[in-house]
Amino acid sequence: MRRPSARVRFGRLHIEIQRQNVKVRGGPDGLHLFDRSNGFNALLDEVQVPRDRWSKAPRQVSIALTNLCDLQCSYCYAPKHRSALDVDVVGSWLTELDSAGCLGVGFGGGEPTLHPAFAEICGAAARDTQLAITFTTHGHRLIPRLLDQLVGSVHFIRVSIDGVGRTYERLRGRPFQNLVTRLRDARQLAPIGINVVVNADTVDELNALVELAEEVKASELLLLPQQPTHAVNAIDAPVKRKLTSWLSAAKPGVRLAISEAGAQGIPTCDPLPKEKGLRSYVHIDASGYVRSNSYAKEGVAVGIEGVIPAIGRLRAAIGDNN
Ligand code: SF4
Repeated sequence: MRRPSARVRFGRLHIEIQRQNVKVRGGPDGLHLFDRSNGFNALLDEVQVPRDRWSKAPRQVSIALTNLCDLQCSYCYAPKHRSALDVDVVGSWLTELDSAGCLGVGFGGGEPTLHPAFAEICGAAARDTQLAITFTTHGHRLIPRLLDQLVGSVHFIRVSIDGVGRTYERLRGRPFQNLVTRLRDARQLAPIGINVVVNADTVDELNALVELAEEVKASELLLLPQQPTHAVNAIDAPVKRKLTSWLSAAKPGVRLAISEAGAQGIPTCDPLPKEKGLRSYVHIDASGYVRSNSYAKEGVAVGIEGVIPAIGRLRAAIGDNN
């Protein structure tokens, strides 16, 4: 049976798309097609999109809904002052970003599930926009009641897991087996990914983390080489060497990804090499400041004029010419 089709006009180019849900984004690398319902991504890199038709929004946005967290990890760099975003404000930002070509939002914190309207925010975002909805969590609040409230509202769940077994329990102060149960339950709602900060504590547990990812049927293991913050130093040279050597030998049964900030010197595949800086990603913190990432010092308050003008002011402030 022929799937429903849609015609998309992009300047003089007409594309017939066999899926109604595909979103089209223009940028320096070409035309990017994306379907949040199944993760379909395609780049028409033979299409040269004039700069004035590049999407005004970054490809991906992360939003810290609240600074609250019920864990006390010693290396946490999240701001500790009480701050949380208003449901309607978040909704208006997401509508604006969606219509300006953004493809996805990742909610974080603090612990985003502690926002009193977390399920409502995800539901409205899924209903009112075409954005892919993801969130990053420590995982311990993914109980069946919350998962039921999120049905149909979330496309991917990222769970932060630093080490396994006793290492995890020492670093996070929570029982590891409870977490494994939460991961299995969450996998019934949406695909899950495991985020791991790579440092001296975790670098020797990468094989065990791959085994865990395979066991709970995670779709991705995202490596986050530790970045310097007020709480911790950057990953040091011996740990970086161990990580590089592990990567060159690893044959995991799960997709590996690595943060852009930690990927220097590591061979990676970047499908959108020209879409950099604020054109690729921005972070909005729980006080409503837009930043180039969650630990960047420079930030610009999002005013009543909206997110895109605030990104423009941040671009000028930090000299981002992308
Ligand atoms: S779970 Fe995350 S936000 Fe919470 S204390 Fe630990 S590192 Fe910080």
